[in-house]
Amino acid sequence: MRANILIVEDEEAILELIAINLHQSGFNPLRAINAEFADKLIREALPDLIILDWMLPGMSGIEFAKRLKSNGPTKKIPIIMLTAKSEEDNIIKGFASGADDYLTKPFSPRELVARIKAILRRKAPELIDEPIKINDLHLDPSTHQIKSNHNLIRMGPTEFKLLHFFMKNPDRVFSRNHILDKVWGNKSDIDDRTVDVHIKRLRDSLSTQGHQKLIQTVRGMGYKFSEELENKLSK
Ligand code: CA
Repeated sequence: MRANILIVEDEEAILELIAINLHQSGFNPLRAINAEFADKLIREALPDLIILDWMLPGMSGIEFAKRLKSNGPTKKIPIIMLTAKSEEDNIIKGFASGADDYLTKPFSPRELVARIKAILRRKAPELIDEPIKINDLHLDPSTHQIKSNHNLIRMGPTEFKLLHFFMKNPDRVFSRNHILDKVWGNKSDIDDRTVDVHIKRLRDSLSTQGHQKLIQTVRGMGYKFSEELENKLSK
């Protein structure tokens, strides 16, 4: 799942630079050139994080941050403030307005991405798509590739999502319903057996590198991803 990140910045070159970097880092950037338009986008769908410029035409970034942080639904959205000002009292004002972090212009996009990831890791770890390595199985969400000892394992997009979910939650048993909810997003027209079908496909893909035993059936419960059984069998 890509995190939706709203960028509120009136300098279009900076707005674009940030948006491109966020997109390349696996985020979904949303653009607003002032607080009023940002407010409109937030009403349509709550973003996962907001990057907010301090100096904006109309309502300032500080005022907007204060408003977002005092309002129920938007209170929990993390805010990173951007500013050309580096004086200490401004930084204090920024934090007082409820900002979660702070970057002074000019900043490197890489630094901004690192700050975003740090905040999301803390507040919404499920939105961070970092590569996962378990034993010799390596899953990279940004390239959608799974490798075992450098050999590519091919699979469909649903099997990829399924494996990604399992690798983020190893050694835990999940019911078919829970898996449906997490991987398919709880669409009511899909039934439990769909999970079984895709688990079988996933095992078939993994079996090309001898890893089919990573996905285990727990009788009466559901499925889990575990390297234990696999290690035992290979010894
Ligand atoms: Ca500005």
